Parts: sequence; C-alpha cells; structure tokens
Amino acid sequence: MSVIVLKFGGSSVATPEHLRKVAAKVTALREAGHLPVVVVSAMGKTTDGLLSLASEVSGHPHRRELDMLLSTGERISMALLTMAIRDCGHEAISLTGSQAGIITTTDHNQARIIEVRPIRVHEALEKGRIVIVGGFAGVSTDKEVTTLGRGGSDTTAISLAAALDAPECWICSDVDGVYTADPRVVPEARKIDALSHGEVLEMGLRGAKVLAPEAIDYARRHGVTLHARASFTDGRGTVITHRPHPGVGRAVAVAGDRTALPVAVDAGTTTLSEFFAWLGQEGVRWKDARRHQTGSSARVELVVDTLNTPDGGALIADYWRSRAGDCVVHEDLRTATIVGEGIAEQAPMWGHATDALANLGIECPALVGNAWGLTAQVPEHQLDDVVRAWHGALPSVG
Ligand code: ADP
Ligand code: ASP
Ligand code: MG
Repeated sequence: MSVIVLKFGGSSVATPEHLRKVAAKVTALREAGHLPVVVVSAMGKTTDGLLSLASEVSGHPHRRELDMLLSTGERISMALLTMAIRDCGHEAISLTGSQAGIITTTDHNQARIIEVRPIRVHEALEKGRIVIVGGFAGVSTDKEVTTLGRGGSDTTAISLAAALDAPECWICSDVDGVYTADPRVVPEARKIDALSHGEVLEMGLRGAKVLAPEAIDYARRHGVTLHARASFTDGRGTVITHRPHPGVGRAVAVAGDRTALPVAVDAGTTTLSEFFAWLGQEGVRWKDARRHQTGSSARVELVVDTLNTPDGGALIADYWRSRAGDCVVHEDLRTATIVGEGIAEQAPMWGHATDALANLGIECPALVGNAWGLTAQVPEHQLDDVVRAWHGALPSVG
C-alpha cells in the first residue's frame, strides 16, 4: 500500500457539506488500497477573518500571539474532517503540524521548515488510520507555535510528502490544474499538462495564487513531484516536476499580482544597511529589490509582498518619515509578469510586451527581465487588462 498526500485548500473545505465530500473522496482512496495523509487549510476565508479580528483588537498584533490565533483555523478543519471520515466507517486521527513533526525556524508568521519528523504519522498509518494534518502551522526550535506564511498548507503537504517519501502528492483546489493565466481573469486560459518547479515558482511569486511559492521552492529542493488538480472532479490536472520539457524560451503563463506594492526610496547619503536590517527585523517581505547609485546618492526600489506583510508599505513610509530620505509608496501600481524561462533573452518578447502596454495607453514605469520572465509595473486598475492583453498577444501563450 502506498502513501498518498492530499491537500485541500480553504474553498474545498468551506462548509460542512464540502468536508463530507472530502471525506468521501479520501475514504474512496483508502478503500482503493492507498494510505491517505490529508492536509487541510482553514475553512473558506477563516484566516482572513482571524487577521481582521486581530487588527480590530490591536494596532500591531504581537507576532507570537498572531500565530496562536491563526493556527486555530486549520485545527477546526482537521477535527471536523476527521469526524466526517470516522462517520464513513474508517479509523482516522487528526494531528497538528507540531504533532506531525513539522519543525520550523523561529520567525513567527513566516517560519520556514527546517526538518520534518513524522513519527506520529508513521505510527498512525501503521495502525491503519487515515491521518489528517492541520496545514500552515508547525513548532519552532524554541517550542513555539509558528505559521508558514499565507498559503502555507501547500508547504505542509509537500514537506510531509518528502518526509514520508510518498509516491503521490496532490494539491487539490477549486481549479483543475495550473492554467496559462488565472481563469477568473482570462476565460480563454488553457490548462497546462506539465510544468517545471521553476516555472510554477515564478508564477506563484508573481501572483498566480494556485500554489504558494515557498511550497514549490520546497518541492524543488526536495525533488517532490506534484499534481495540481480539482478537489471534486477526476482528471490528471497539472504535473509539476523537476523538468518536464526541454523548452527553454517558451512563454508559459501570464500572472497579475495585486499583492505586489512598488515602493521607491531616495535615501540620499543615509546608510542603507541599517534600512535592510530594519526590514529584516520587522519581517517586511519583498519580491524585488534594486539599488541605484548616482554620485553619493542612493535609490532603492522594492516591491513589497503585501500578502504576507499587509502593512509593509506604511511601515517603510514611517521609517523614512523620521529620516533624511524621500519615500514614495506607489499605491496605484501593481505588477504583471510573463513567465517563461529564458524569454527575456528574446527580442520579440520585449516588442510584444511593450506594444500591448502601449495599446492600453500605459507608459510603463518599469519593465524588467530576469531569468524567469518579464515583469512590468502597471496601474492597478488596468492590471487585469494587461494580463488579458499579454495573454492574447503572445504567440506561445494561450
Ligand atoms: P486553495 O484555497 O485551494 O489553496 P487558492 O485560492 O489558493 O486555492 O488557489 C486557487 C485559485 O488560484 C483559483 O481559484 C484561481 O482563480 C487562482 N489562480 C490564479 N492564477 C491561476 C493559474 N495560473 N492557474 C490556475 N488557477 C489560478
Ligand atoms: N489558511 C492559511 C491561509 O489562508 C493557509 C492556507 O490556506 O494554506 O493562508
Ligand atoms: Mg492556496
């Protein structure tokens, strides 16, 4: 019998009815001879609700206590799913991330997994039980409850798949795979059969919500093959492996990122090492950082990750208010990206990208190429238009 790790996201466990459907799917796999280890997220938008509750109580919620609060969302789902599975006549047990042996760094709200010691998972499987693990949380080397950043249940599932040496790891959600763009934004987007870890990592970093980037990074480092598929319908979904195709130079997808907030700082002669140390201390996360030097004056351009640090832009503005620097938070800008390994080396790609922006009347303040694609800063109200235009205009996408 082989272990199969399945992860069900918030929308797949949003209601009691959803939980019963997940229970039916999991027990069917058990009856087919698999050993399911199931990772669940918090129900529906529970985590968002807990975050806003915290901000109603405290202007700057204490990070340890925030982890205590946020980790309760996944506990609810894991206990309810286990009850539903037991009602289907199967032995099952729920475990928290800590009980499942997920050991993390001490960085509250954005901890990284150091090691997984799934002793209790093995014990339960040996007793013939279906194991349900609450995603998103672990225990730090200081024995504190930690959470893994937004979307962290994906990381829980992948880390368990690696530690258990599971032949299958399914990330199940409300879409049946990874598409060439968010199908909610681009109705013509196509499901992609196979992608590399690198491609999906870049998609995730650039706002494609389907898989958390930290999770893909973990899969890449530990050689875990993933299947992104639908929670409640059958089908192969998208296989994400080390390198499923030889095609460097193909544009695979377009992503828009509403959680990417560009910030520019003219630091003058103020030392920047102090600023970066402060960013680390405050836990402000960013996606891109560039430093320019003109004479003795330094300029830093950051794209703040507001999914994981919602108040990052405001914190940076506050920091510079009391110093001899000039900080602009571009509240009106977000990022759009064409993802494809090596595409930034192709001259026609830059032409397509800039022509499409010009047709929308966008004078793009920044278009940057890196090893995995081209990213533009565009007005937030035109973000979806840019994604649609790029998706339609690029020959190898869509
Ligand atoms: P879960 O709650 O299961 O973790 P998420 O909401 O995190 O699921 O991710 C699924 C959502 O990701 C889909 O509803 C879809 O709108 C969005 N999405 C964004 N970009 C893509 C893409 N390129 N392919 C598929 N889905 C995408
Ligand atoms: N519940 C957490 C979140 O909303 C973790 C997850 O869903 O993966 O980010
Ligand atoms: Mg998710």
